Amino acid sequence: MADPQQPTPVVSLNSVHRRYHQGDAVLEILNNAELAVWPGQSVALVAPSGAGKSTLLHIAGLLEHPDSGEVFLEGVATATLSDRERTRLRRTAIGFVYQAHHLLPEFSAVENVMMPQMIRGLSRAVARERATELLTYLGLKERLTHRPGQLSGGEQQRVAIARAVANAPRLLLADEPTGNLDPKTSDHVFNALAQLIRQSGLTVMLATHNMEIASRMDRRVTIRDGQVVELQ
Ligand code: ADP
Repeated sequence: MADPQQPTPVVSLNSVHRRYHQGDAVLEILNNAELAVWPGQSVALVAPSGAGKSTLLHIAGLLEHPDSGEVFLEGVATATLSDRERTRLRRTAIGFVYQAHHLLPEFSAVENVMMPQMIRGLSRAVARERATELLTYLGLKERLTHRPGQLSGGEQQRVAIARAVANAPRLLLADEPTGNLDPKTSDHVFNALAQLIRQSGLTVMLATHNMEIASRMDRRVTIRDGQVVELQ
């Protein structure tokens, strides 16, 4: 029963299990994982490589089904939704940033950020305006018409962030978004992301190895024996 005093978590994982088979071995990556992320919170997911960070983000982002358990997005149970409904929810409610930017090389920065908005049905003019505004906010006003190949790694990743938030998602999932960058560029990109999070009140889960970045989020969690454990 929902408590009217309590806000609904943007995303919550209830008793989530996920295992992979590798040869004869069974890897229990998530084993009764529980997590609730509240509106406007930023959560760092800090765990060694192979611990299951990407798996957790993929499950929270409806890119992957758990073997059992339930994922609620803004209170909506997602396990029994059709693929079509999951895709719609993913497109409207969730933004993703990956370690590699995955920008479309033949399109300019502004076109890359327009794309998800146009897929969602916005007009070219409206999409361009929002894309220009976001890229300008992220310090890329002079790079709007550059293609990804003409941008530095840090600039490419800022375009990827702009693309991820172009449709004003409620939840941003970021999988080591600064992992490929040198420390100074990483810091620069993270500052841009942090500013955007603060300004928009976005809810964020971000996997990172970088403790300095993790320390600047509202919460830190790790994955231990397949469970999500709060770090202080
Ligand atoms: P992290 O993001 O923390 O590095 P992952 O979630 O990518 O960890 O992976 C957790 C473990 O699950 C790793 O040992 C990985 O090899 C394994 N794994 C991930 N995806 C698959 C898959 N599709 N099939 C088999 N094993 C997988």
